[in-house]
Amino acid sequence: MGIVVQKFGGTSVSSAEKREQVVRKIKHAVDEGSRVVVVVSAMGRAGEPYATDTLIGLAREISKQIRPRELDLLMSCGEIISSVIMVQTLRSHGLDAVALTGAQAGIVTDYHFNNAHIKEVHPAKILKLLDEGKIVVVAGFQGATGDGEITTLGRGGSDTTAAALGVALKADVVEIYTDVDGVMTADPRMVPQAKPLDTLTYQELCEMAHLGAKVVHPRAVEIAMEGRIPLRIRSTFADGPGTLVADGAPIGSIEIRRDKIVTGLAHLAGMALVTIRSKDDLNENGMVLDVFEIMADSGISVDMIQVAPYQIRFIIDEQRMEQAEQVLSRTGLDVTIEPGFAKVAIVGSGMRGVPGVMAKMVKGLRQAEIAIYHSVDSHTNIACLVKQEAMSKALQALHFQFLN
Ligand code: ASP
Ligand code: MG
Repeated sequence: MGIVVQKFGGTSVSSAEKREQVVRKIKHAVDEGSRVVVVVSAMGRAGEPYATDTLIGLAREISKQIRPRELDLLMSCGEIISSVIMVQTLRSHGLDAVALTGAQAGIVTDYHFNNAHIKEVHPAKILKLLDEGKIVVVAGFQGATGDGEITTLGRGGSDTTAAALGVALKADVVEIYTDVDGVMTADPRMVPQAKPLDTLTYQELCEMAHLGAKVVHPRAVEIAMEGRIPLRIRSTFADGPGTLVADGAPIGSIEIRRDKIVTGLAHLAGMALVTIRSKDDLNENGMVLDVFEIMADSGISVDMIQVAPYQIRFIIDEQRMEQAEQVLSRTGLDVTIEPGFAKVAIVGSGMRGVPGVMAKMVKGLRQAEIAIYHSVDSHTNIACLVKQEAMSKALQALHFQFLN
């Protein structure tokens, strides 16, 4: 009997009525003959009693400073509570279920409190419980170090738990249940014409997740991709098939096409553009290294990086602007930092080596009279930096150009 991992997000488990919908999904998989492992997030969003942000608030009321170790102990409770409530709900429906913490489920992490990485998964206990005919409900977002310290996997980390368990259990599929129907070609709040996607490659979803599409945690996609376990993103509250994410190989009767030039759009707002100019060759005088070491030492992440002999450009989070201004002034170079930018990107596994994709992107933006301030590309995306106020217009223009 195949194993299915089903992950339910905070909204899906937030109320008794919604948990009934969750039971329906679990029951459906059981009735189809699968052995089911359920991963749950903490119940609800900020403001609701057992949500992650509410728990953090409890400690912050006393002091803004919380030690990362204690913060993890605190945050892990949200998912543990959720797992027990889910088991109670399943049992009230006559289904035999058992709750496990991340540690009990065999998830071993490194010592990076608040943002730990999973090092190993020991699935023996889950497999034994499944063999006994039980539904296993695992508290998402957490694990433990080799010596039993409780850790969490970074915000949104329940997706990561589900993907890691899927790989360790060699599941047929990992289903990520959420409150939207699947992955869309663009954010429907920006682009009303956005359409749901039937299929997507891991690479495409990864790019979209890193570029701000919030449906699934990028690390979860990377884990599923490495383990070659298909992901399906679908709604708890509707019966549609959602979006299937896999590589280019056919799964069942569905073929994941790798040849779509543009599959979807992604965007990221709140960016500042850093430009460093010099009359001297920045390679020769070693300033290229100085600039990036300064950013690294300040813990400021840089993106859309472009280095040339007399100019360095990159973008940073707007929030880090003042700090960047301060530390870069030490170099004595001519530094300008402008806030108010957004990154808009086209994503598609099939664009590699195809002429004319950038031309079409520029054409779309030009027709909408949107200026490009900077750009960067990979094998699966081209991203342009535009003024933040032009972001949604840019996305609409690109959607019209590529996805109509
Ligand atoms: N509850 C955690 C968070 O809010 C983990 C998750 O929901 O995936 O980040
Ligand atoms: Mg989430």
